[in-house]
Amino acid sequence: MRMVTSVRAMQRLALDWKRSSVRVGFVPTMGYLHAGHMSLVRQARQLVGPSGKVVVSIYVNPTQFGPREDFSKYPRDLTRDSRACRKERVDVVFAPADEEMYPQDGRSQFSTYVTEETLSIGMESVSRRTHFRGVTTVVAKLFNIVQPDFAVFGAKDYQQAAVIQRMTRDLNFPVRIAVAPTYREPDGLAMSSRNKYLEGNLRTQALVLWRAIQRVRVALKTRSGALSAQRLKTELKSFIEHEPAAKLDYVEFFNPVTLLPTLKVSSGAHMALAVFIGRTRLIDNARL
Ligand code: AMP
Repeated sequence: MRMVTSVRAMQRLALDWKRSSVRVGFVPTMGYLHAGHMSLVRQARQLVGPSGKVVVSIYVNPTQFGPREDFSKYPRDLTRDSRACRKERVDVVFAPADEEMYPQDGRSQFSTYVTEETLSIGMESVSRRTHFRGVTTVVAKLFNIVQPDFAVFGAKDYQQAAVIQRMTRDLNFPVRIAVAPTYREPDGLAMSSRNKYLEGNLRTQALVLWRAIQRVRVALKTRSGALSAQRLKTELKSFIEHEPAAKLDYVEFFNPVTLLPTLKVSSGAHMALAVFIGRTRLIDNARL
């Protein structure tokens, strides 16, 4: 396994692979890897086959964090991540420094951003206003650097996957996007690097996101007809905030393709929510 830290070296490698028709599968991450990330790596390997190359990027992208978010505290452990990637037979870990991705020096300072303007509206954007601009910008850069044939994203970040698919289509990136299912702990908690912050009984309280999803699924089975989204939101807020450390950021019901909110919830709709557990903001989503 190779560790690459410079954009030039990564692009040179990508070009070599392209010239010899080697298929490349790419998994962009912010590191502190867990089994959810590794399920994406396995899907990338399946897509490119044994003779293809799998690249994992590990980069905590500053432009997708707001000024009051956890950028500086975000967990990082490149040694542990490299070990996990080697074990999974990743070919290249691309771990650039901020200066490589966003040069700050004088006249050559970074000043170009990519924005998706429809699917990015609502949900995550309400409390993370410039989040998706940061995501689309860094993913566009990474696509140009790694030049993959396939890129794998997780359904755990449902809106993000939709935004990336739209960006890829709109800007004609020659990349096929795959979306892997959300990988969960045995008790249902969606795996996340931020779960590391959940100390003591916060870990138990964090299960309330998954329990909220289950609760709506049960309601759809037991109550007749479509349910009022507004009523469900009110019920869920008090259900979630019954946990002493939980504060609901948003819960939304929407069309899984257009992401447009739905007023009447029935099976086939999608549900997403963000909840603060103490100071940690967790997200989850599922098809109902
Ligand atoms: P992150 O490192 O959190 O930015 O995530 C990198 C990629 O892994 C994104 O495409 C995420 O959606 C995906 N991912 C994170 N957690 C999970 C999970 N529990 N199951 C599936 N994919 C995940």
